Amino acid sequence: ENIVHDRIDYVFKVVVLGDSAVGKTQILSRFVKNEFYFDSKSTIGVEFQTKTVTINDKVIKAQIWDTAGQERYRAVTSAYYRGALGAMLVYDITKRQSFDHVARWVEELRTHADSSIVIMLIGNKGDLVDKRIVTTEDALEFAQDQNLFFSETSALSGENVESAFITLLQEINRVVS
Ligand code: GDP
Repeated sequence: ENIVHDRIDYVFKVVVLGDSAVGKTQILSRFVKNEFYFDSKSTIGVEFQTKTVTINDKVIKAQIWDTAGQERYRAVTSAYYRGALGAMLVYDITKRQSFDHVARWVEELRTHADSSIVIMLIGNKGDLVDKRIVTTEDALEFAQDQNLFFSETSALSGENVESAFITLLQEINRVVS
């Protein structure tokens, strides 16, 4: 932490996608600021946040875009996907519908994003163990079928959030270098 980076080797644009209320904004703030907001308000107006990490001796600035509530209105535009090298596709393990919609989001990515985009499927709210509806096995099977990386996270506890982003950035780094 608090490392001063005097050079940036790469800037990787990453988009965060998925149904409303699955925890996209919280995952982003957990990764970027290590914070969770207990009464989170909508984030209209915020476009992206950045975090700089070192991967294989390369200084990488992750520029991570949040839909800022636009997914409610199906207004995620092609500008959002433009130049994106990675995508975090988030569902809520306690909401079946948010998982059922993942296929649509993958289709959206395949249509609008670069074909080499690296996609990480994220089952969030892993802390809500008693409310789980979507099994790890179902999600893993879907991810393997669609060629996606997969992780289960909790933005609340922080579990696996950093490792999911680091895995995604490592994979992007492999693709671009
Ligand atoms: P977004 O609409 O996808 O950006 O979702 P938000 O980040 O605004 O989160 C939606 C709601 O889910 C908020 O009430 C969050 O506090 C809650 N939430 C987000 N992530 C988690 C998590 O990992 N665990 C739990 N228990 N709640 C979460």
